[in-house]
Amino acid sequence: MERISLKCKECGGIVEADPSKSVLYCPYCGSKEMIPESDQVKIARIKAQEQIERERERQKSKRIRDNMIYIVIIAAFIIMLIAGLASGVH
Ligand SMILES: [Zn+2]
Repeated sequence: MERISLKCKECGGIVEADPSKSVLYCPYCGSKEMIPESDQVKIARIKAQEQIERERERQKSKRIRDNMIYIVIIAAFIIMLIAGLASGVH
């Protein structure tokens, strides 16, 4: 997760903020404030969102791959079953 450094309005301390959250919590003075929609925050938010999208795509393609393996195994099993039945008949 992309993090951004913001300055606390109350004490001036540098706070590592999570751009996906809209509230900035300062561990130095305990104050809470809304994260301003600066360009830095927007860019960090977009990057974080893109990362989530990428992860989601990765999970999806992994799922498809896993399903393909199951289909191949089941198909092989069915073929073996049919072949076994066919040889039994003769
Ligand atoms: Zn502070």
